[in-house]
Amino acid sequence: MRHPLVMGNWKLNGSKQLTADLISGLRTVLTDVQGCKVVIAPPALYLAQAVAAVEGSNIGVGAQNIDVNLSGAFTGETSAEMLKDTGAGYVILGHSERRTYHHETDEVVAEKFAIVKQQGLIPVLCIGETEAENEAGKTEEVCSRQIDAVINAHGVEALTDAVIAYEPVWAIGTGKSATPAQAQAVHKFIRDHIAKQSREVAEQVIIQYGGSVNDKNAAELFGQPDIDGALVGGASLKADAFSVIVKAA
Ligand code: 13P
Repeated sequence: MRHPLVMGNWKLNGSKQLTADLISGLRTVLTDVQGCKVVIAPPALYLAQAVAAVEGSNIGVGAQNIDVNLSGAFTGETSAEMLKDTGAGYVILGHSERRTYHHETDEVVAEKFAIVKQQGLIPVLCIGETEAENEAGKTEEVCSRQIDAVINAHGVEALTDAVIAYEPVWAIGTGKSATPAQAQAVHKFIRDHIAKQSREVAEQVIIQYGGSVNDKNAAELFGQPDIDGALVGGASLKADAFSVIVKAA
């Protein structure tokens, strides 16, 4: 059965000091958390430090991206094999910032998804519509297209032991979260969409919500039946706010 998962996406933020301080702060306040899995995703440079710092705690570590190649002449890239070697367990894929600024297509994201799974890591597939798409009533069309890119390439079973993060682009970093009812409606659509191919896979896939989640709105979002935790940006950089969100899940 699926379990709540709260993940902190640090994006391009952090330092050796912040990594040390944030993890030590989280370790202090998250000792008694049960049932909810907690994962932090620092920039790749700090992954090894983070993996060492969470040892013996209930906090996991994830990356924010990988290259489609495992090794070779690809200057500047990081591979899934290296992440596994470093001790990371999760990889965020297809974040809207990568789709926008790095031109990642649905096909590239699907390719990365398969590579992450082949390495025995857990992919966190980010999907979600822009404000213009939302206003044009295209939310379901966009979300199903982004999921179908994975299902069509690798089969619905690829979503076993995977995570989907519904992150409406208009809610990311804007302070304007989707309402619990809005998010629940899309999460239910996503689960029903997957269930058309496999009810079993749909029931076990973790669907996180992301977009301006904070210590004030988390509990109400997590009260929705199809919201299985959150992918948190800004609020994941503060141990106190992030731990309130974890405890709400
Ligand atoms: P914010 O929580 O800062 O809106 O960011 C959400 C996000 O993009 C997480 O991946």
